[in-house]
Amino acid sequence: MRYLSTRGGVEPVGFAEAVMMGLGTDGGLLVPEHIPRLSEDTLVAWSRLSFQALAVEVLAPFVGEAMPRADLVALVEHSYGRFSHPEVTPVVEQAGRPWLELFHGPTAAFKDVALQLLGNLFEYFIARERGVLRILGATSGDTGSAAIDGVRGKAGIEIFILHPKGRVSPIQERQMTTVLDANVHNIAVEGTFDDTQRIVKALFNDLAFKRDYRLGAVNSINLARILAQTIYYFYAWGRLSGGDPAHRVSFSVPTGNFGDVFAGWLAKRMGLPIDRLIIATNRNDILSRFVASGVYRAGEVYHTLSPAMDIQLASNFERYLYYLLDQDPAAVRALLAEMEQTGQLQVDGERQRRVAEDFDARAVSDAETLAEIRRVYQAGGYLLCPHTAVGARAAADHPDAVVLATAHPAKFETAVVEAIGIEPAPPPPLRGLLERETRCVELPAEAEAVSRFMRETLDTSAREHP
Ligand SMILES: *Cc1c(COP(=O)(O)O)cnc(C)c1O
Repeated sequence: MRYLSTRGGVEPVGFAEAVMMGLGTDGGLLVPEHIPRLSEDTLVAWSRLSFQALAVEVLAPFVGEAMPRADLVALVEHSYGRFSHPEVTPVVEQAGRPWLELFHGPTAAFKDVALQLLGNLFEYFIARERGVLRILGATSGDTGSAAIDGVRGKAGIEIFILHPKGRVSPIQERQMTTVLDANVHNIAVEGTFDDTQRIVKALFNDLAFKRDYRLGAVNSINLARILAQTIYYFYAWGRLSGGDPAHRVSFSVPTGNFGDVFAGWLAKRMGLPIDRLIIATNRNDILSRFVASGVYRAGEVYHTLSPAMDIQLASNFERYLYYLLDQDPAAVRALLAEMEQTGQLQVDGERQRRVAEDFDARAVSDAETLAEIRRVYQAGGYLLCPHTAVGARAAADHPDAVVLATAHPAKFETAVVEAIGIEPAPPPPLRGLLERETRCVELPAEAEAVSRFMRETLDTSAREHP
C-alpha cells in the first residue's frame, strides 16, 4: 500500500515513511492510495477473532510490504498486552444500550489504543534504520500522558511534552510527571495551553532546529492512529452482530479532532455494516453546524466539562473533505484557500446531502452532560466520563447505537462528583499517583527557553550514548 497527501504535494510513500512523516511535507494529511474493500465472507470470518487477531487482519493490508507478518503479530501482541481487560476493548450492556469501553489501557483513555501501537511502530522502524526520533508535543491532558506511555523507555526515542503549569488536572499532570524513564521530558510552561501550542509551532517552524534534531510529532494527524482506531469498530460489530452481515450497527462518537469518528467512517468504507455514525460534540459545535448546513466555520473555543473535545478546527477533518471532494487534491486546496481567506468553507448541495448520509451530529451542553451522567447512573450504577456522556446524550434518539466510552470516569472525577456527588473508584493505573516521585522542569513561556533545554538535554544524552 502506498500513501498520498490530501493536498497532492507528496510523492507516494510506503507505510513506514507515512508513519514516520506524520503530517505530510506539503502540510496535507496522508491517506491510503485506495481503501481496501472487504467481502462478506471476510467480515463473517473476522467477527470470531480476538481483538489482537483482528488487529493483525485489519492492519495487514495497510502495512503491506513494510513489515513481515510475524513482526506485525508480535508488535500487536506487545501493544495490547498492557491493557487490563482480556478483550482489550469490551462491549458491555448497561442502562439499556451497548457501550464500547476504550479505557482499559495504561492511561485510562481511548488514545492508548492508538498510541501504544504507534510507539511500537516508531521503535520498530527506527531500529531498522538505526535512526533516532525526537517527539515534541503540547497537551491539555489526555494526549500527553498516552503519548508518553507509548514511548517510555524505547531506544532511539526522546519525548518532550509541554503542559501549561497548574492548568491540567492533578491526575493528568501526575500521569505524565511520574513517568521517570530517562527518555521522557516533561516541561511545565508558565502560561496557558495556547502558549504551549504556540511554542511547539515556533519550534517546528525553525527548520534548522527541526532538521538537526530530527523532530517529529504525535498529534492526532498520524495515519497509524486512525488505522488503529478502526479495529474496535470491527470488534464491536463482531460482538453485536454475531457475524450476520445483514446486521447493521450504529455508533455514537464523542468528537474533538475528528480522528475517532473518521476511523469509523473508514471502517464503513471498507464494508463494515454501519448504519448511523453520530458525531457527538460539546458546545464547541463546528462539526454539528457543518453537518446541518454544509458550512464549516470556526467559532470561539469554549471550556466545557469534556475538555478533550474543546476544539474548533478539527485536524482530521481534511481527510474527510478529501473523500467528499472525490479525492481531488486541487479541490481540497481550493476549499482550504477559501477557508484561509474568508474564515469559512462551504460545500455544495449535492455534497451536503452526502455529508448528511454519512453522519448525524449533535452538540450537547454541559447541563445535558451532567444530566446524562446522572440518568445512566440511576438506571443501574454505570458511571460515565463527561466525554462519554456527550456521546450518550447525542444518541438519545438511537437507543441501539453503541456509545464509545472514551475515558474512565475517575479521570474526570470533578464532573462526575458534580453530577452525582460520588467519587468514582480509580482503576489500577490511576491509583497512588499522588504519592509517587515526579520529574518535570519548569520553563517560561518562551520558545527560546524550550529549545535551549531541548538542545542541552539531547547533546548530553548523545555524549552519554554515542
Ligand atoms: C481525545 C479525546 C476525545 C476526542 O477524540 P478525537 O479523536 O479528537 O475526536 C474524546 N474523549 C476523550 C476522553 C479524549 O481523550
